[in-house]
Amino acid sequence: MHKAKAYSAASATSPLTLDTIQRRETTERDVQIEILFCGICHSDLHTVRNEWSSAMATTYPCVPGHEIVGRVSKVGAGVTTFKAGDLVGVGCMVDSDQTCPHCRANVEQFCPNSIFTYNSPDKHLGGVTYGGYSESIVVDEKFVLKVPRNLDLAGVAPLLCAGITTYSPIRRWGDITGKKVGVVGLGGLGHMGVKFARAFGAHVVVFTTSPSKKEDALRLGAHEVIISTNGEEMHKHAGTFNFILDTIAADHNIAAYLNMLVLDGNLTLVGAPEKPLSIPAFALIFGRKSLSGSLIGGIKETQEMLDFCGQHNITADVEIIPIQKVNEAYARMVKSDVKYRFSIDMASLKD
Ligand code: NAP
Ligand code: ZN
Repeated sequence: MHKAKAYSAASATSPLTLDTIQRRETTERDVQIEILFCGICHSDLHTVRNEWSSAMATTYPCVPGHEIVGRVSKVGAGVTTFKAGDLVGVGCMVDSDQTCPHCRANVEQFCPNSIFTYNSPDKHLGGVTYGGYSESIVVDEKFVLKVPRNLDLAGVAPLLCAGITTYSPIRRWGDITGKKVGVVGLGGLGHMGVKFARAFGAHVVVFTTSPSKKEDALRLGAHEVIISTNGEEMHKHAGTFNFILDTIAADHNIAAYLNMLVLDGNLTLVGAPEKPLSIPAFALIFGRKSLSGSLIGGIKETQEMLDFCGQHNITADVEIIPIQKVNEAYARMVKSDVKYRFSIDMASLKD
């Protein structure tokens, strides 16, 4: 075991503060990574504040962070894919059983024994896993991703969650070329959804509650922007969308977006609000609409997404912050004041 500096929360109401955690020594198949950047996902905030207590209660202290980019500092004797010095990424998962049907189908996120990067049982050290708001991490090589060399690292970090979480459902929906695709909420996930939907040839429309984000939405690749609080604008587009990706982190009127779909249209939910959403049956049955969900993506697909980003020069638009500003960043995230992902420069942990 060795010590690592990290930022942790001691309870659902405590701020994140400097802490020292233990990391395991590298075993045969492990990769030890010096963390360079870690994105701030709204899931980090939901977890730190125990907002998902009914589905997965938070164990404290909690070290969040699952959008990790770093440099390999050491590898176990059996590791063949990585060597010291390589630039790598780690997303939301650090282990799974590798034998169940889901693992065999490359969707490890649905493995009954998957281990998430933080707040999951740690089979090596006991307690729970600690995430990327830290100077280092040790991860099984199967869950380590190769980072394209041409991309800016601060902007790559958010690809490990916001990127794959939007890429995966867009790919799964099918060929979106020329289709009218809506992205609801222009935050970390939403702005990546816009970039991917545009890259795959859709007519992209952003729904936002923030009129101040309109220009940015167009710059990021949207063809049109709808201010969702404007009933008239919403009414004009009713019944015209083939596919909508809903990334809202808080309670909202999902029926208003189901109303935007064409016959047989689909709304995929990736946002995970604290409270249940209310869905009137008529919003689905009239128009034979479907509502689905999507959870991150498997390791194979995450690598495919990173390679796609390398080829198309896609990264997140980030505001780089020192870790000392993490609590301020959380307060801004709650106010939807994120442009469009905070990326923590982990060198600040040395200060
Ligand atoms: P974020 O950066 O905070 O963005 C969320 C956006 O939703 C905001 O910027 C805002 O956009 C909109 N919004 C917030 N509150 C709203 C409200 N009350 N009504 C309407 N719109 C509102 O969050 P994120 O990191 O993108 O994460 C979004 C959600 O996805 C979170 O719940 C997170 O836990 C979840 N998530 C799910 C997965 C998965 O695998 N399914 C993975 C990662 C994250 P506008 O200003 O444009 O309105
Ligand atoms: Zn996330």
